[in-house]
Amino acid sequence: MTVGGALREAAERLAVEWGRFDAELLMAHALGVSRSDLLLRHLRDPVPTAFAPLLQRRLAHEPVAYILGEAEFYGRRFRVTPDTLIPRGDSETLIEAALAIRPDARRVLDCGTGTGALLLTVLAEGEAEGVGVDASKAALLVAQENAQALGVAERAHLLRRDWTQAGWADDLGTFDLILANPPYVEEGAPLDPSVRDHEPHSALFSGPEGLDDYRILLPQIDALLEDGGAAVFEIGTRQADAVTALAEAEGYSATLRRDLAGRARALVMTRGLN
Ligand code: GLN
Repeated sequence: MTVGGALREAAERLAVEWGRFDAELLMAHALGVSRSDLLLRHLRDPVPTAFAPLLQRRLAHEPVAYILGEAEFYGRRFRVTPDTLIPRGDSETLIEAALAIRPDARRVLDCGTGTGALLLTVLAEGEAEGVGVDASKAALLVAQENAQALGVAERAHLLRRDWTQAGWADDLGTFDLILANPPYVEEGAPLDPSVRDHEPHSALFSGPEGLDDYRILLPQIDALLEDGGAAVFEIGTRQADAVTALAEAEGYSATLRRDLAGRARALVMTRGLN
C-alpha cells in the first residue's frame, strides 16, 4: 500500500476529529520528514514499517503528542512527556492576553509550568526573565529541556514548588506578570479517554468543582504581584462566573478573554487604575 492509501485508511479507523491530521503527523514521523514534505513528496511511497505501531498506539487513544514526544505551541515546538500536560491551542489565549496587556513585562511567574509552554513562550517573545514553578520534578526536567532548546534557559528559573505548602513563594520576589494554567477539571467529569487515561491527573483535577487550586492560589497572588502588574489565569469554560467572583473577592478587576471557539478561556486580573 502507498502512504496516501494508508493515510486514508488510518483516518477512517481513527474516526476522531483531526484523525487525518494525526495520521499525517504519525506518518511524517515514521518517514523522518516534515508534514508538508510528506504531503508534497511522499504520498506514493511504500508505507514505512514504523507506521503501524505508531497508529496502533493512537488507536488505543494515546495522544499524538506523547507518541511523537512533542507538541506545537504558539509556533514553537515543545518536548512533552506523560509527566506533562500537553500544551493546547486554547492556552494560546493566555499568551495573546499577556502580550496585549503587558507587552514589556520584565519579571514573569508561571504557576504550574509543566512543559514550560506559557512561561517560555513569553520569554521567547520578549526580554523578560521568569520563574516557572511546578510540584512535579519530572515536569521541571522537561521544562528545562525546552528552555534550552528555545534559547531562553538563562532567563528561565525553574523551581520545584507546591503552592499548597505555606511559604512556597517566600523567596521568589515580585512579578509584573503572573500566568497560571492550574488544574481546573471537576473530579469525576467525563473526559476523552486520550486525556483521562494518559495525561497527568495532578495537572487536570482540582476538587469537586474544579476550583480548589484557584481558591488556594488567588489569595496568594497579591504578595507576588507588583503594583500595576497583571495576572492571567486559564479557566474552564463554565467557570467564568465562579473564578471572576473569587478574583473580585480579592480586590481585582477581572476581564474575560475568549478562545478561538468563542469560549471563556482566560481571566485577566488587575488592581487599581489599569
Ligand atoms: N483544558 C484541559 C482539558 O479540558 C484542562 C486543563 C487544566 O485542567 N488546566 O482537558
